[in-house]
Amino acid sequence: MPRAKNSTVPYIHTALPGPLAKKAIAFDRRFTSPSYTRYIPLCVKSASMCTVEDLDGNRFLDFTAGIAVNACGHCHPEVVAAIRDQAGKLLHMCGSDYYNQPQADLASRLCKLWPGKSPTRVFFTNSGAESIEAAFKLARYHTGRQRVIAFLGAFHGRTFGALSLTGSRITQRAHFAPLVPEVEHVPYGDVSYIREQLFKRTVPPDEVAAIFAEPLQGEGGYIVPPMKFFPELRKLCDEHGILLVCDEVQSGFGRTGKMFCIEHYGVEPDILCLAKGIASGLPLGAMVAKESVMNWKQGAHGSTFGGNPVSCRAALASIGLIEREYMQNAKEVGEFMRARLWKMREEHPNHIGDVRGLGLMLGMDIIADKKSQRPAKALREKIIDDAYYAGLLLLGCGEATIRFCPPLCITREEAATGLELLDGVIRKRCKK
Ligand code: PLP
Repeated sequence: MPRAKNSTVPYIHTALPGPLAKKAIAFDRRFTSPSYTRYIPLCVKSASMCTVEDLDGNRFLDFTAGIAVNACGHCHPEVVAAIRDQAGKLLHMCGSDYYNQPQADLASRLCKLWPGKSPTRVFFTNSGAESIEAAFKLARYHTGRQRVIAFLGAFHGRTFGALSLTGSRITQRAHFAPLVPEVEHVPYGDVSYIREQLFKRTVPPDEVAAIFAEPLQGEGGYIVPPMKFFPELRKLCDEHGILLVCDEVQSGFGRTGKMFCIEHYGVEPDILCLAKGIASGLPLGAMVAKESVMNWKQGAHGSTFGGNPVSCRAALASIGLIEREYMQNAKEVGEFMRARLWKMREEHPNHIGDVRGLGLMLGMDIIADKKSQRPAKALREKIIDDAYYAGLLLLGCGEATIRFCPPLCITREEAATGLELLDGVIRKRCKK
């Protein structure tokens, strides 16, 4: 396994942000959209495997992987070599209009990885939201039905179609109405609500094109549904001719210890939405569907950049590494981290609530006190902030959850270092 170029991490040798970062951030803030959620004043200069270096030479341990994107770590030499090689041959020629080999190779690879026996086809995109848009359109096209069902707490992206399915945070939807009509949000993890309430009172099941579901809810709080949820959802879809669309944008490509999270439940979806970890850092997404479902006509959907050959080469290299070693590593280091987080919970019962997740997709709730288990959002923000000043990068999700989604190449030593540091941060913060 290649190691980070600078092995001493974390290494913080200036006040944060340092003078160069301060200047760069002030410059950036004059020109960029205020909608970005940049709470941490980190300006990244370079990164290698699980280490991120800022403009002032401070080094951080990365438990975020750029929101579960850098699956094989930052700038993995094999991924970079594939990108360099392809960049010298062909950057772009629009895969919707002409053929190129890397795109065909990746499509064939994704069809082989499909979690089921059905023959499949691939439509390439540039992002998670675009993969969801493509699935939304295909579901309506294929079924001739208009309604769709999504889950409360779900995050599917921010374009109009994807946003209409998103049910995570009110700030993401406020001021953007009207959204795409006929989307119903229902409680996550509970099929009986759809069966007994929705289908009996408000939504005729034979008007529903698709149910969109994350196999492990990400933005909503890293929530693992009950094991029977997806098999029951599959059954419900089959009874009514509804397509089951799995959003594996965050949970895919080895993150949960299996190539796709849905494999934990033994269920074959009809459509799979992919992005994030697919190319370990280059923008790329894909919507993979059963061949019998992807029956739209020539011209029905397309994309200028989707399936860019450089991104496809990065994806091929990245998937190879995940299959060879990082999926297993995600499982092993994930188990190690989960056990350590449980221990931390025992040590801080008044501040840490539930700990959950699969592989390297782990969440830990921060609570106000043991008795009420009330989510403590402000405390969660302070812990994430303190961790940054100590050299550990973390992200939140849900109401007051800390998420752990490091690169899948993280070593046990790096995981231990980061969690010791976090333990120290919680200890200090909770004494105050
Ligand atoms: N679906 C899920 C499960 C996600 O986690 C995300 C992004 O966080 C998206 C879709 C949207 O992806 P993108 O930001 O690439 O549009």
